Amino acid sequence: MYDIVVLGAGASATAFLQSIKKLAQMSGGIESPLKVAVIDRQSQYGTGRVYQQDYEWLIMNTPVEDLSCVYDDSSHLANWLKKEVSTSSKYISRNLFGLYLARCLESVCESLSVHFINDTVVDVEPIVESSSNVVSISLTSGDRFQSKAIVFATGYPLDLKEDLYGIENVTKSLYPLQSNLPCLEKNEVLVFGTSLSSVDVISTCHHLEYDCKITICSRTGSLPNVKGQVIEPVQPKFCLYSEYYKDYRNKGCALSLRDILRRVRLELKSHCIDWRSYLFPKRGIEDQISIFRRRLDSARTGNSSFDLVLGMIPEIAETWALVDTSQLRLFMEKFQSRIRAIHGAIPLHNAQLLANKLDNGTVRLSQLPSSLVERNGKHIATFPDGGQKVYDHVIFATGSRRSLKFHTDSLIRATLNKLTDKPYTEFGAEVHLPSGRLCNSGGHNLYAIGHASEGSHPFMNNFGWIVKSSHMSAKAIIKKLRESTNNESLFS
Ligand SMILES: Cc1cc2nc3c(=O)[nH]c(=O)nc-3n(C[C@H](O)[C@H](O)[C@H](O)COP(=O)(O)OP(=O)(O)OC[C@H]3O[C@@H](n4cnc5c(N)ncnc54)[C@H](O)[C@@H]3O)c2cc1C
Repeated sequence: MYDIVVLGAGASATAFLQSIKKLAQMSGGIESPLKVAVIDRQSQYGTGRVYQQDYEWLIMNTPVEDLSCVYDDSSHLANWLKKEVSTSSKYISRNLFGLYLARCLESVCESLSVHFINDTVVDVEPIVESSSNVVSISLTSGDRFQSKAIVFATGYPLDLKEDLYGIENVTKSLYPLQSNLPCLEKNEVLVFGTSLSSVDVISTCHHLEYDCKITICSRTGSLPNVKGQVIEPVQPKFCLYSEYYKDYRNKGCALSLRDILRRVRLELKSHCIDWRSYLFPKRGIEDQISIFRRRLDSARTGNSSFDLVLGMIPEIAETWALVDTSQLRLFMEKFQSRIRAIHGAIPLHNAQLLANKLDNGTVRLSQLPSSLVERNGKHIATFPDGGQKVYDHVIFATGSRRSLKFHTDSLIRATLNKLTDKPYTEFGAEVHLPSGRLCNSGGHNLYAIGHASEGSHPFMNNFGWIVKSSHMSAKAIIKKLRESTNNESLFS
């Protein structure tokens, strides 16, 4: 019987276990008495699906200071980089970040007894008859064991399952690019998506010196945000957790979205940005390109507006626990997709590359084709303006499915289905914040962290917030275990 079983060994699991280690150290214990198991179907523990070995030019979209895996120690990664690889660069490759995560996970084992299991979890069964609310886990190998608490850190699939146009020969699963990107030499290529992943495709074609022409397309044709030359998250003045907390206390009830937006508006206004055109930019392709060029110019000369977003995210994310569930749902319905688009941004030199390619015509921006048909191994796209173009390759670089319902890991859905008839909503499985405990899990200790609980939190794909929320979950789980085992000395 384990105390905690963590499903998945990616960035979220690593951050969570770092916090367990930290809590053990703070309680004065040299070695934790906890029995912990971590299960992942892939053996590169720590890297998860995103930070596995890939091309070295695929860099993190977030600067080093926001990527420390240790809660309350924002210089942990910077110090590790200086010591291990003698670099002080602001942006590191995803490979290097994966190595850092793997090392962090190894260091956890110095004070925590962790059993790593390389297998796939096929079933999680909350044992309902048991008075102690244990949970049984089954693996592909047929092995089965029990735990007092389960942490879903399973992320969500990066593959795009549905096929918008019903055609077969398209690249749907992109990462790692090293093994999934087809050879695009002297080809016409249509890439669905105009954001971070499509920029990965463009920069990879550039580095591999493919002589190809790429059309990137999306519904609005909006291009990503750009990170500034000076990459500093701008400390907000109005969008502060303390300010929101004051509002919350004054109102005597949960904050509304309107309250949150009011402070966001003020913040943007203080930087001479009109919130409406910022959040809902004009739709025309030419407009989108000129907005992108303006972002690039401001990023070249100083802070970009993205730095402001970067500064606001942790404050708003923390405020989320004060927001009423109905407001949270409203947010998911109306704003989630916009916010996701806005808080992703590309580093300056990738933005410059994209701008150059838009200039010389090797990359073209377009709205989604109204139809796409496959004929004799080619793809014929018809665009809303009536124009037609023939492509050799079609690549989906849109991330996972748009519907939030599917962001909830299927394992979580299947587990909750065993406990209640209506376990999750169209906004994904809900978790209690700040503990991360899954709603509707009865008396069982079922928690979801990171992308596994994406459906219930708008800022989950920001690693800084993953670290913070995983820490809160770690504290909540320890408290729960202490209570349920009557072991007052556990991490007290
Ligand atoms: C291309 C790309 C670039 C990104 N860049 C950044 C960035 O620069 N900054 C940033 O903050 N965020 C970035 N993100 C967001 C990123 O997803 C998160 O930062 C973080 O990596 C999520 O980690 P995770 O552990 O929650 O999920 P994952 O990395 O998906 O890990 C989940 C793990 O669970 C395992 N698993 C799942 N199901 C099972 C099962 N049934 N049995 C066994 N094992 C299972 C998987 O094998 C996997 O290893 C990026 C995302 C992408 C796709």
